[in-house]
Amino acid sequence: MKVKEVRVSYQNRPHAANPIRDALQTLTGGGSVSVEIESDDGLVGRGGSSFGRIDGAPRTLAVLIEEILAPKVVGRDAEQIPAIIESLKVETEYHGTEGLATFGISAIDVALWDLLGKAHGVPTYQLWGAYRDRVPAYAMVGWSNWTIDQLRGQCAAAVEQGFHGVKMKVGAPTLEEDVERIEAVRKEVGPDIKLMVDANQALTLTEALRRGHVFQELGVGWFEEPLRADDFEGYAELTQRLRLPIAAGENLYSARQFREFFERRCCDIVQPDLRRAGGPTEIRAIGALAGAFGVPYASHGGGPAALSLLLCVPTAIFLETGLRSSADGFPRLENGYALAPQGAGFEWE
Ligand SMILES: [Mg+2]
Repeated sequence: MKVKEVRVSYQNRPHAANPIRDALQTLTGGGSVSVEIESDDGLVGRGGSSFGRIDGAPRTLAVLIEEILAPKVVGRDAEQIPAIIESLKVETEYHGTEGLATFGISAIDVALWDLLGKAHGVPTYQLWGAYRDRVPAYAMVGWSNWTIDQLRGQCAAAVEQGFHGVKMKVGAPTLEEDVERIEAVRKEVGPDIKLMVDANQALTLTEALRRGHVFQELGVGWFEEPLRADDFEGYAELTQRLRLPIAAGENLYSARQFREFFERRCCDIVQPDLRRAGGPTEIRAIGALAGAFGVPYASHGGGPAALSLLLCVPTAIFLETGLRSSADGFPRLENGYALAPQGAGFEWE
């Protein structure tokens, strides 16, 4: 099966009237890029990428895929996915593979694995070999700019929808504000729902230690990205000094960075992002490393490809999604577990 054509398109999202915020960023809109890869026997695999902000990013990525990556994919044996991905890393090394180029490589990787699943007529996770057929799901429902009433309403809705846990943003100007919001959510969801907090890289090591000790006493499930993503030394110290589990990894690129993160014992829970970590091919390697180092694995973001990977990573613990917009939306949930995709490739229905 050869790759006949790579098609790329992009879309911008209109700016929201009241954009959501975390401690670092205002997510004004952004948009998405779609990739279709057609084989010489007429099958089509689909992948893509998304941006929460930066209006120019979707068009920039579409050009990068079309002019730099796609020419290296057309004509290749579509079953030799790791070889294709490796050649894209080599091609982009000159201007830096990390960053936007990796978003593009990941989108192509998702489309190729979708295509291969379709060629075999099975869900892609079955080609990889699964550890499980379902994984617990939690909802990220607590943005920084929401009032406490909004926060409580969204968290209550997540519990109502059957999620096993909720996550909210922290890193407010003062610790007291963080505590007030955490206590309000805990009161709303009750003692049995896992409550995680995410500081989106906003704190210093000293402040993360100070807040971490308080969050620990409040029964928080994990403390996510307290420090800048590249502060490996800070993460190692924090992980050693806090009993509260440290979760991180959504801003790391490639298995090599994750290998060092694991070797230096920088986190208690690792959270690769499908776009930045480098797509399913790279994440399968990262998942194997997480297994070898005994580090629990939770996805950053959800979607059928992220769920498919969780089914196959030995130490997977949690799928992250948002609130479901309708009862029949992705993922199919049963008792708070996201169920394995059923269609060929990454088709989930
Ligand atoms: Mg996060």
